[in-house]
Amino acid sequence: MSIMSNSLIDNYGRVHRDLRVSLTDRCSLRCTYCMPHDFNKWLPSETLLTANELVKVIEIAVTQGITEVRLTGGEPLLRPDIVEIVSRINSLENPPELSMTTNGVALAKVAKELAAAGLKRINISLDTLDWERFKRLTFRDRYDDVIEGIAAAQAAGLAPIKINAVLMKDINGDEAIPLLKWALNENLNLRFIEQMPLDAGDAWTRKNLITADQIFDQLNSEFELTPVEDRGSSPAEEFYVNGGPATVGIIGSVTRPFCSACDRLRLISDGQMRSCLFANTETDLRSILRNGRLTESEKREDIIKAIGLTV
Ligand code: SAM
Ligand code: SF4
Repeated sequence: MSIMSNSLIDNYGRVHRDLRVSLTDRCSLRCTYCMPHDFNKWLPSETLLTANELVKVIEIAVTQGITEVRLTGGEPLLRPDIVEIVSRINSLENPPELSMTTNGVALAKVAKELAAAGLKRINISLDTLDWERFKRLTFRDRYDDVIEGIAAAQAAGLAPIKINAVLMKDINGDEAIPLLKWALNENLNLRFIEQMPLDAGDAWTRKNLITADQIFDQLNSEFELTPVEDRGSSPAEEFYVNGGPATVGIIGSVTRPFCSACDRLRLISDGQMRSCLFANTETDLRSILRNGRLTESEKREDIIKAIGLTV
């Protein structure tokens, strides 16, 4: 099979090209919309895929048609072998386009090394420009570390740098305009994400949701927004700000679901593969990777079959 062909086509005709790889479930923050502030039921560390296992799955996925890989978590920078993982993915024969989503807390220390290892694109999550709100929102006093991390990413030449922000009523719902002014000033590409019911302690309610329309209206009261055509499989609706070239994105995950255009697969840190954040079935790649009775080529075949079953 040619490496350019893609066998990851699902029953809806969607061609899967994008693989999200969660490197760990652990995190240095406790964002209220993501996990309970006292969460401690982490996966046992021996169940997390090793760097070797991760790289093997990614290499096989690339032969099946995956062209983009995004490293995420939990917090991907909590992996002590993160630079090695980035470097090894970039050294594959046909390296995928590699990016990372991080909370930025530990980025100042590794931004340069990541760039040297071949990382180019990075998304950094920041929901507020106020350190006290940051503390309320994340249950950790790490605002300054994130700001330093963003500066380090800029200094290391990572580009583009996207900032992901989730707005919530009563916490940071009034920050759409200040965040965009700051991002424009810093030459950062801001995207707002509607808060999804991923459920940290059943706190999500539809009536508290700040919708994509409301975010657009807030921004449009201060800036002239014009739609960027050709969204492709991107979940974000992009708008030129004041005629461009700067843009802002709004991801209406709840009010404007983009399932029909989604081209993602997800590899969870313990080796389970899913087609969707909300999928209730998954295929177990770890048990194939660790099956001592299989030869390397049998493992490869089984992983290809398992990935094919996920789509
Ligand atoms: N820890 C890293 C970070 O925060 O960037 C990577 C993992 S985090 C799960 C990836 C992205 O998902 C972040 O931008 C975060 O804001 C977003 N996210 C988490 N929970 C969410 C929710 N309930 N609704 C919308 N976005 C959410
Ligand atoms: Fe951690 Fe990211 Fe979840 Fe926040 S959104 S708790 S930083 S994994």
